[in-house]
Amino acid sequence: MRVLVKGAGVAGLTAAFELAARGAAVTVAEIGCGLGGASWFAGGMLAPWCERESAEQPVLDLGRGAADWWDAALPGQVTRAGTLVVATPRDAGELDRFASRTSGHCWIDEEEIARLEPDLAGRFRRGLFFPGEAHLDPRQAMAALHEKLAAMGVDFRFATDARQLSGFERQIDCIGMAAGNERLRGVRGEMLILRTPEISLSRPVRLLHPRFPLYVVPRSDHRFMAGATMIESDDCGPVAVRSMMELLSAACALHPAFGEAGIIETGAGIRPAFADNLPRVEARGNGVAINGLYRHGFLLAPAMARLAAALVFDHAKFEELAHATDRQRRSA
Ligand SMILES: Cc1cc2nc3c(=O)[nH]c(=O)nc-3n(C[C@H](O)[C@H](O)[C@H](O)COP(=O)(O)OP(=O)(O)OC[C@H]3O[C@@H](n4cnc5c(N)ncnc54)[C@H](O)[C@@H]3O)c2cc1C
Repeated sequence: MRVLVKGAGVAGLTAAFELAARGAAVTVAEIGCGLGGASWFAGGMLAPWCERESAEQPVLDLGRGAADWWDAALPGQVTRAGTLVVATPRDAGELDRFASRTSGHCWIDEEEIARLEPDLAGRFRRGLFFPGEAHLDPRQAMAALHEKLAAMGVDFRFATDARQLSGFERQIDCIGMAAGNERLRGVRGEMLILRTPEISLSRPVRLLHPRFPLYVVPRSDHRFMAGATMIESDDCGPVAVRSMMELLSAACALHPAFGEAGIIETGAGIRPAFADNLPRVEARGNGVAINGLYRHGFLLAPAMARLAAALVFDHAKFEELAHATDRQRRSA
């Protein structure tokens, strides 16, 4: 079966993988000159238990297998070291609130924090540890998936508007915010990449704060992704001064040595989201659309891709989905 995947963000790449693995002849068309989209700016946290703090149960149900999927598809890309969540003594109540809204964690004291992250020794009295969580470098993972897909025979066409291509039996639409779906909204996420040899972290660390929560995800070469704002906007312009100041001040509260770090990149990605912040696989024309991955692209794309690929090969299920999508549209 000849299938066109529109868009080479995380949704498109994972869908292409699931389709190619099932024997489809896959073409991926990406309008940009390389890999990009919102996926390029992601932190790469595979954190379904932490995300449950603000997300609905399906995010945990669909996301708990993500680390295994990435590990199987791209051995060596996933770091399974859990997530550490801390708060300054002044915001200690935030930890209790976070704990009450999540599961899959244990309380740890100062000594245990120092054992997990020696560079945070003496900085936080207690924290939450989520041992089942994992992370990856999204850019490395996307590049590796691209390479693997090309080796599997997937035809990549960059600088190509997928809407101009025809002649495919099925299409999977993964173009994120460009879908022009009136039920989608953009949630702007601003991020920084900092570099300092003064700090080493082994896992994502979340610093809770009532107004300016921060996470820092370690990457290779002494780099750290610090993020991210959550602004109801689809403006993909440069990082605002206020956001930069807030992210940097939170990073320094996590560890003062971030004050000496170099800011090697700033950027903003627009997370595509439906009203309930949950992703959807919907019937569209002679194919399906995967969208609404919101803040969970790397976490939920594997499950969405599997579902979409199964629908492409199952005519009866595809027809069922097409009717259901049609009913939803008419009642909206
Ligand atoms: C700052 C930030 C931090 C994040 N951190 C995390 C995290 O830690 N963990 C996590 O799981 N998620 C995270 N996310 C969320 C994640 O990045 C998104 O959910 C995900 O990127 C959405 O992927 P997508 O493939 O649907 O869209 P995109 O990545 O936007 O991909 C869509 C692609 O379609 C292409 N396209 C558009 N129009 C066309 C066309 N006509 N023809 C061909 N191609 C087209 C675009 O160029 C783009 O490459 C974060 C997001 C941000 C912004």
